[in-house]
Amino acid sequence: LKSPYHGGHLEVIVGPMFSGKSEELIRRVTRSVIARQNVQVFKPALDDRYHDSAVASHAGRSVSAVAVRGAAEIRAHLSGEGTLLSAGAADLPDVVGIDEVQFLDPALVPLVLELADAGVRVILAGLDLDFRAEPFGFMPELLARAETVEKLTAICTVCGAPATRSQRLIGGQPARFDDPVVLVGAQESYEARCRVHHVVRP
Ligand code: ADP
Repeated sequence: LKSPYHGGHLEVIVGPMFSGKSEELIRRVTRSVIARQNVQVFKPALDDRYHDSAVASHAGRSVSAVAVRGAAEIRAHLSGEGTLLSAGAADLPDVVGIDEVQFLDPALVPLVLELADAGVRVILAGLDLDFRAEPFGFMPELLARAETVEKLTAICTVCGAPATRSQRLIGGQPARFDDPVVLVGAQESYEARCRVHHVVRP
Protein backbone atom coordinates (compact mmCIF):
# COMPACT_ATOMS: atom_id res chain seq x y z
CA LEU A 1 0.00 0.00 0.00
CA LYS A 2 1.63 3.22 -1.21
CA SER A 3 0.93 6.66 0.22
CA PRO A 4 -0.83 9.17 -2.02
CA TYR A 5 2.57 10.85 -2.49
CA HIS A 6 4.69 9.56 -5.37
CA GLY A 7 7.91 9.84 -3.44
CA GLY A 8 9.05 10.64 0.04
CA HIS A 9 7.35 13.25 2.14
CA LEU A 10 7.18 14.77 5.62
CA GLU A 11 4.23 14.33 8.04
CA VAL A 12 4.27 16.22 11.34
CA ILE A 13 2.02 15.48 14.35
CA VAL A 14 1.94 18.23 17.02
CA GLY A 15 -0.02 19.31 20.07
CA PRO A 16 0.44 19.69 23.84
CA MET A 17 1.34 16.92 26.26
CA PHE A 18 -1.34 14.16 26.51
CA SER A 19 -2.83 15.07 23.11
CA GLY A 20 -2.13 11.60 21.69
CA LYS A 21 0.92 12.41 19.53
CA SER A 22 2.68 9.17 20.46
CA GLU A 23 -0.57 7.22 19.97
CA GLU A 24 -0.97 8.70 16.49
CA LEU A 25 2.67 8.01 15.58
CA ILE A 26 2.28 4.41 16.81
CA ARG A 27 -0.98 4.07 14.82
CA ARG A 28 0.65 5.23 11.57
CA VAL A 29 3.79 3.13 12.10
CA THR A 30 1.75 0.00 12.93
CA ARG A 31 -0.26 0.37 9.71
CA SER A 32 2.99 0.63 7.71
CA VAL A 33 4.26 -2.57 9.36
CA ILE A 34 0.97 -4.30 8.47
CA ALA A 35 1.55 -3.13 4.87
CA ARG A 36 4.94 -4.95 5.02
CA GLN A 37 6.91 -1.77 4.76
CA ASN A 38 10.36 -1.39 6.19
CA VAL A 39 9.97 0.89 9.21
CA GLN A 40 12.53 2.42 11.57
CA VAL A 41 11.50 4.43 14.66
CA PHE A 42 13.73 6.74 16.72
CA LYS A 43 13.34 8.77 19.89
CA PRO A 44 15.63 10.98 21.98
CA ALA A 45 17.59 9.12 24.67
CA LEU A 46 17.08 10.39 28.21
CA ASP A 47 20.49 9.12 29.24
CA ASP A 48 23.89 9.07 27.57
CA ARG A 49 23.50 5.95 25.50
CA TYR A 50 22.43 4.92 22.05
CA HIS A 51 20.26 1.83 22.67
CA ASP A 52 17.20 -0.24 21.83
CA SER A 53 14.07 1.18 23.35
CA ALA A 54 10.38 1.79 22.60
CA VAL A 55 7.98 4.64 21.89
CA ALA A 56 5.14 4.28 24.38
CA SER A 57 1.91 6.28 24.68
CA HIS A 58 0.40 7.38 28.00
CA ALA A 59 -2.33 4.80 27.38
CA GLY A 60 0.25 2.00 27.17
CA ARG A 61 0.68 1.04 23.49
CA SER A 62 4.23 0.85 22.16
CA VAL A 63 6.49 0.15 19.17
CA SER A 64 10.21 -0.61 19.32
CA ALA A 65 12.54 2.30 18.66
CA VAL A 66 16.20 3.21 18.77
CA ALA A 67 17.07 5.85 21.39
CA VAL A 68 19.51 8.47 20.06
CA ARG A 69 21.28 11.53 21.49
CA GLY A 70 20.87 13.61 18.35
CA ALA A 71 20.23 13.85 14.61
CA ALA A 72 23.78 12.69 13.82
CA GLU A 73 23.07 9.34 15.45
CA ILE A 74 19.93 8.93 13.34
CA ARG A 75 21.99 9.66 10.21
CA ALA A 76 24.70 7.20 11.32
CA HIS A 77 22.13 4.51 12.06
CA LEU A 78 20.50 4.89 8.63
CA SER A 79 23.55 5.25 6.43
CA GLY A 80 26.85 4.60 8.07
CA GLU A 81 28.80 7.74 8.93
CA GLY A 82 29.44 10.17 6.11
CA THR A 83 27.23 8.53 3.47
CA LEU A 84 24.98 10.88 1.52
CA LEU A 85 21.46 9.55 2.04
CA SER A 86 20.29 10.92 -1.31
CA ALA A 87 23.20 9.25 -3.16
CA GLY A 88 21.21 6.03 -3.04
CA ALA A 89 24.12 4.20 -1.43
CA ALA A 90 22.16 3.66 1.76
CA ASP A 91 19.44 1.03 1.90
CA LEU A 92 16.88 3.33 3.45
CA PRO A 93 13.67 2.22 5.22
CA ASP A 94 10.33 2.99 3.54
CA VAL A 95 9.20 4.81 6.68
CA VAL A 96 11.11 6.67 9.39
CA GLY A 97 9.19 7.69 12.53
CA ILE A 98 10.62 9.97 15.22
CA ASP A 99 8.90 10.83 18.53
CA GLU A 100 9.57 13.82 20.84
CA VAL A 101 11.45 15.58 18.04
CA GLN A 102 11.56 18.89 19.97
CA PHE A 103 14.23 17.34 22.23
CA LEU A 104 16.60 16.62 19.33
CA ASP A 105 18.86 19.25 17.71
CA PRO A 106 18.34 21.61 14.73
CA ALA A 107 20.40 19.26 12.51
CA LEU A 108 17.22 17.16 12.47
CA VAL A 109 15.63 19.61 9.99
CA PRO A 110 18.07 19.11 7.07
CA LEU A 111 18.23 15.37 7.86
CA VAL A 112 14.47 14.78 7.54
CA LEU A 113 14.32 16.91 4.37
CA GLU A 114 17.13 14.82 2.89
CA LEU A 115 15.26 11.63 3.81
CA ALA A 116 12.02 12.88 2.25
CA ASP A 117 13.94 13.90 -0.91
CA ALA A 118 15.48 10.41 -0.99
CA GLY A 119 11.99 8.83 -1.08
CA VAL A 120 11.35 8.11 2.60
CA ARG A 121 7.98 8.72 4.29
CA VAL A 122 9.02 10.64 7.41
CA ILE A 123 6.56 10.82 10.32
CA LEU A 124 7.48 13.19 13.18
CA ALA A 125 5.70 13.80 16.50
CA GLY A 126 6.51 16.57 18.96
CA LEU A 127 5.41 19.58 20.99
CA ASP A 128 4.60 22.69 18.93
CA LEU A 129 4.71 24.93 22.03
CA ASP A 130 6.89 24.98 25.16
CA PHE A 131 5.48 25.37 28.72
CA ARG A 132 5.30 29.15 28.17
CA ALA A 133 3.18 28.55 25.02
CA GLU A 134 6.04 29.89 22.87
CA PRO A 135 6.95 28.06 19.62
CA PHE A 136 9.30 25.22 20.53
CA GLY A 137 12.79 25.62 18.99
CA PHE A 138 12.96 24.44 15.37
CA MET A 139 9.39 23.02 15.32
CA PRO A 140 7.99 25.96 13.27
CA GLU A 141 10.55 25.18 10.54
CA LEU A 142 9.34 21.55 10.38
CA LEU A 143 5.68 22.59 10.35
CA ALA A 144 6.30 25.00 7.47
CA ARG A 145 8.14 22.40 5.41
CA ALA A 146 5.82 19.42 6.02
CA GLU A 147 3.41 18.04 3.41
CA THR A 148 0.91 17.32 6.19
CA VAL A 149 0.47 18.71 9.71
CA GLU A 150 -1.89 17.20 12.24
CA LYS A 151 -2.50 19.41 15.26
CA LEU A 152 -4.02 17.39 18.11
CA THR A 153 -5.64 18.65 21.31
CA ALA A 154 -5.76 17.14 24.79
CA ILE A 155 -8.47 17.78 27.41
CA CYS A 156 -8.03 20.78 29.73
CA THR A 157 -7.65 19.44 33.28
CA VAL A 158 -9.49 22.51 34.64
CA CYS A 159 -12.57 22.84 32.39
CA GLY A 160 -12.66 19.92 29.95
CA ALA A 161 -12.31 22.10 26.84
CA PRO A 162 -9.83 21.16 24.10
CA ALA A 163 -6.33 21.81 25.48
CA THR A 164 -3.66 23.28 23.20
CA ARG A 165 -1.04 24.03 25.86
CA SER A 166 1.17 22.23 28.40
CA GLN A 167 0.93 23.70 31.93
CA ARG A 168 4.17 23.34 33.88
CA LEU A 169 3.65 23.10 37.64
CA ILE A 170 6.43 23.34 40.23
CA GLY A 171 5.41 22.23 43.70
CA GLY A 172 1.79 22.48 42.43
CA GLN A 173 2.20 26.16 41.39
CA PRO A 174 2.34 27.48 37.79
CA ALA A 175 5.96 27.86 36.69
CA ARG A 176 7.50 31.30 36.11
CA PHE A 177 8.44 32.40 32.59
CA ASP A 178 12.17 32.24 33.37
CA ASP A 179 12.20 29.29 35.76
CA PRO A 180 15.16 27.04 35.01
CA VAL A 181 14.39 23.84 33.14
CA VAL A 182 15.65 21.77 36.07
CA LEU A 183 14.77 22.98 39.58
CA VAL A 184 16.69 21.14 42.29
CA GLY A 185 14.52 19.72 45.05
CA ALA A 186 11.22 20.83 43.51
CA GLN A 187 8.40 18.52 42.41
CA GLU A 188 7.64 19.22 38.77
CA SER A 189 4.61 18.08 36.77
CA TYR A 190 2.68 18.93 33.61
CA GLU A 191 -1.03 19.20 32.78
CA ALA A 192 -2.90 19.81 29.54
CA ARG A 193 -4.67 23.21 29.61
CA CYS A 194 -6.77 25.39 27.29
CA ARG A 195 -5.84 29.01 26.45
CA VAL A 196 -8.00 30.36 29.32
CA HIS A 197 -6.56 28.08 32.02
CA HIS A 198 -2.92 28.08 30.95
CA VAL A 199 -0.91 30.21 33.40
CA VAL A 200 2.67 31.46 33.17
CA ARG A 201 3.75 33.57 36.13
CA PRO A 202 5.85 36.61 35.11
P1 ADP B 1 1.37 12.66 23.84
O1 ADP B 1 2.36 11.83 23.04
O2 ADP B 1 0.73 13.75 23.03
O3 ADP B 1 1.93 13.18 25.15
P2 ADP B 1 0.12 10.10 24.39
O4 ADP B 1 -0.19 9.48 23.06
O5 ADP B 1 1.35 9.60 25.11
O6 ADP B 1 0.14 11.70 24.23
O7 ADP B 1 -1.11 9.90 25.40
C1 ADP B 1 -2.41 10.24 25.08
C2 ADP B 1 -3.32 9.59 26.11
O8 ADP B 1 -3.14 10.21 27.38
C3 ADP B 1 -4.80 9.75 25.87
O9 ADP B 1 -5.31 8.81 24.95
C4 ADP B 1 -5.39 9.52 27.25
O10 ADP B 1 -5.54 8.14 27.50
C5 ADP B 1 -4.29 10.01 28.18
N1 ADP B 1 -4.56 11.29 28.88
C6 ADP B 1 -4.17 11.60 30.14
N2 ADP B 1 -4.51 12.85 30.47
C7 ADP B 1 -5.13 13.40 29.41
C8 ADP B 1 -5.70 14.70 29.11
N3 ADP B 1 -5.69 15.72 30.01
N4 ADP B 1 -6.24 14.89 27.90
C9 ADP B 1 -6.27 13.90 26.99
N5 ADP B 1 -5.75 12.67 27.20
C10 ADP B 1 -5.16 12.41 28.39
